[in-house]
Amino acid sequence: MRLRVDDITAEARELAFPEPESEINRMLGVGAVRDYSLEGPVKVTLTYYRAGTELFLQGEISAVARGSCARCAEEFDAPRMRPFRYVLAPRSIGDDAVAAMRSEDLEFTLYDGDEVDLSPLIREQTLLAYSTLPVCREDCRGLCPRCGVNLNETICGCRTEAGDPRLAVLRSLKVRRPN
Ligand SMILES: [Zn+2]
Ligand SMILES: [Zn+2]
Repeated sequence: MRLRVDDITAEARELAFPEPESEINRMLGVGAVRDYSLEGPVKVTLTYYRAGTELFLQGEISAVARGSCARCAEEFDAPRMRPFRYVLAPRSIGDDAVAAMRSEDLEFTLYDGDEVDLSPLIREQTLLAYSTLPVCREDCRGLCPRCGVNLNETICGCRTEAGDPRLAVLRSLKVRRPN
């Protein structure tokens, strides 16, 4: 999706559009393991306006992906919503000014020419929304390190010397806790 710079005025306007998933899925698949795969386009809602030469974009992405659980390897639905804000300044202000204007809650970037391409920004936000390790649920028990069964579905009866690693964590916490 592209916006014509001349169409961005001081009066805020709203826009909703789908961002195609194919390029984002390609980027999600670049690592050694494919953690997530989008099921369809990313839904984007956006408000945009101008103040002087700076362009302000504020909105939210909504996406649905299939995740591949890092513990049990099962697939699961991973919906995400993520708000975003961008300020875009004309490239003529220079790189030093960009460094000075970056802040934690605001993405600051440059535009040149008479169009703003929103796709790289939406791709960036989607990758950030899916930057966490995929886990099918908070208490996923994963696979047995001995026999490989899915411990969410079966209790295999294997015993390991170390016992349940999660209990080991609790025990070490107890030791460290002051009296
Ligand atoms: Zn799992
Ligand atoms: Zn087992």
